[in-house]
Amino acid sequence: MDHPTLCCRAQGRASDYCTNCDLLVGLASYHVVGVERGPDGLVVRVESPWGPVGCPDCGVRASSRGRREHRLVDIPAFGVPVRLVWVKRTWACREAACPRRSFTEVDDTLAPPRSTWTTRARSWAVGQLRREHATVHGLARQLGLGWDTVWSGIEPILTVAAADETRFAGVASLGVDEHVWHHVSTKAPEDGGRGLNELTGMVDLTTDENGQVRARLLDLVPGRSKKAYADWLTQRGEDFTAGVKVATLDPFHGYKAAIDDELADATAVLDVFHVVALGTNCGLFTIEGVVVV
Ligand SMILES: [Zn+2]
Ligand SMILES: [Zn+2]
Repeated sequence: MDHPTLCCRAQGRASDYCTNCDLLVGLASYHVVGVERGPDGLVVRVESPWGPVGCPDCGVRASSRGRREHRLVDIPAFGVPVRLVWVKRTWACREAACPRRSFTEVDDTLAPPRSTWTTRARSWAVGQLRREHATVHGLARQLGLGWDTVWSGIEPILTVAAADETRFAGVASLGVDEHVWHHVSTKAPEDGGRGLNELTGMVDLTTDENGQVRARLLDLVPGRSKKAYADWLTQRGEDFTAGVKVATLDPFHGYKAAIDDELADATAVLDVFHVVALGTNCGLFTIEGVVVV
């Protein structure tokens, strides 16, 4: 290659974009105009194709006012971090009566204004956490960022997702178990510890129309107690609790007590993992009213 730091567009006709590079980067409506590989990964420059644009205020056709670069974190590729440089077009409105003097290309599907991530990179990172057992540390390594930067980039999406109660619809089989999320000091963070180490997790174990168990983590709340689970069930409301026909649990009396109080019509079921664990230990089941399956 004569120009290894440039996209192959530079070797062809200046008016052409490279379909191979565009295919590789995969951003609809954008074209690759440059690629560099440095010690920190790949830097890919993209632009939208030229076309007539009207002023967003008055609609009069605007004239070009040059470019402005917007650097963004993109999805890692080929084992290295990627930075996308969006070479934005800027325009000037020539209509004397129009209050708008200039404006810049906007496209939230690529990246919202002032964002430092592409929209697809945020979705990718959240998907890695939710479905691929990724950690924030792992994402930080792949993206070439610090932990705090990754967390601040994805926290807004996770906060919105946590507030979305549609995931609680149609739960007929509900599991609960404790989760110990750290094994260091349980002192308060201001005293050098990491705080409470036990969480109560709720899982949707409903069988779908294809006979597959959904096995979706629905929520995590602090603590391992009757109150933690009972409060969560109360917050879900009667429509939710009335729909739960089977409630599985680990052999912890607190959770069973919460089920008795809040899910009186559901059948309590001891999950197989804990049946095996208990059987191995002593062969005794001592929780009243529990069906072992
Ligand atoms: Zn190319
Ligand atoms: Zn205008």
